[in-house]
Amino acid sequence: MNNTKIWLSSPHMGGNEQKFVNEAFDTNWVAPLGPNVNGLEQDLELYLGQEVSVGALSSGTAAIHLGLILLGVQTGDVVLCQSMTFSASANPILYQGATPIFIDSEPETWNLCPIALEVAIKDSLSQGNTPKAIIAVHLYGVPYQIEAVRKIADKYGIPILEDSAEALGSSYKGQKCGTFGDIGVLSFNGNKIITTSGGGAIVTKTKAQKDKAVFYATQSRDDAPHYQHSHIGYNYRMSNISAGIGRGQMEVLDTHVDLRRQMQEFYVDLFQDIAGVGVFTAPTTDYYPNYWLSAIIIDSELTNGITNETLRLAFEAENIESRPLWKPMHLQPIFENYPYYGGTVSEDLFNNGLCLPSGSNLTNEDRSRIASVVKRIFV
Ligand SMILES: *Cc1c(COP(=O)(O)O)cnc(C)c1O
Repeated sequence: MNNTKIWLSSPHMGGNEQKFVNEAFDTNWVAPLGPNVNGLEQDLELYLGQEVSVGALSSGTAAIHLGLILLGVQTGDVVLCQSMTFSASANPILYQGATPIFIDSEPETWNLCPIALEVAIKDSLSQGNTPKAIIAVHLYGVPYQIEAVRKIADKYGIPILEDSAEALGSSYKGQKCGTFGDIGVLSFNGNKIITTSGGGAIVTKTKAQKDKAVFYATQSRDDAPHYQHSHIGYNYRMSNISAGIGRGQMEVLDTHVDLRRQMQEFYVDLFQDIAGVGVFTAPTTDYYPNYWLSAIIIDSELTNGITNETLRLAFEAENIESRPLWKPMHLQPIFENYPYYGGTVSEDLFNNGLCLPSGSNLTNEDRSRIASVVKRIFV
């Protein structure tokens, strides 16, 4: 059998990406502005609905950073952040000189635990420090508990920065992820559900907020013939070449969502009769996840000692990539001295979970190779 590498999540071109890139070359819009940048922003605004404004940026991380700036986060402020996530959710808190407070996950969606969140807010308030923002993440494309988190945010008047980097194409009760926060964040990194090779976007409620984000993203140039600056500036705008790739990818986004969801169903079937392995699945039909990555949890007491690491190594031997879940931020050396609220939900997920190949471009032969490893390990 063919032994080419099966990736966790690799770029999957639709076909028209190069047409948009060629247009950029033909018209010499080889710059961090141009028709593709405007076009991608419009495509995203139409796709997300809810009358949001979208600003295309160089990365999702840049979008989180500018989001915190728009929310007024400064040195000495406190920002609440889901612990179980990719480090890019939390690093921009430190860029701003603010203090992260990490919050555990709940077991249903693996995202921000509303109970631990409220305890952290009350504690922070009692110390005279009103948190400036809540960073909530839709892990692996499964929406967080939208209503419960919003209720707490509104009760205490704290804005939500919605990290939807993994959840473009997911929705909750018919509303698209990326539109639930006071500010939303998207990523088009190479391994995300669609890619611009590298890029991201900020989603705002008003055009004025978007314009402000773009102003900061383009070196904060004041309105003057010379270079005049009264704010710190950043070089965070998206290239018109990258945006051309993004326009082609937007044409196939919904197809990619369907294909990723089919991969998750494939794993549900594959592990159906294997005791001790559960495939991550949204709690109710209100949730429509894009299942950016399919993930499993292994209870090694029920699998004769087979762990997530046993399976990862077995895949690796067959040139198949799989990966542990995100290691929670409160357990990371760079963040371990910051406050943490919650129990061991995220830690247990990390210890027992595994992300499996999930790309929209996986073939039937890829699936057979994956299935044969699983069947061999769990005899
Ligand atoms: C990918 C990702 C980011 C960062 O996006 P980049 O475009 O890679 O900077 C942020 N948060 C989460 C949860 C992500 O998965």
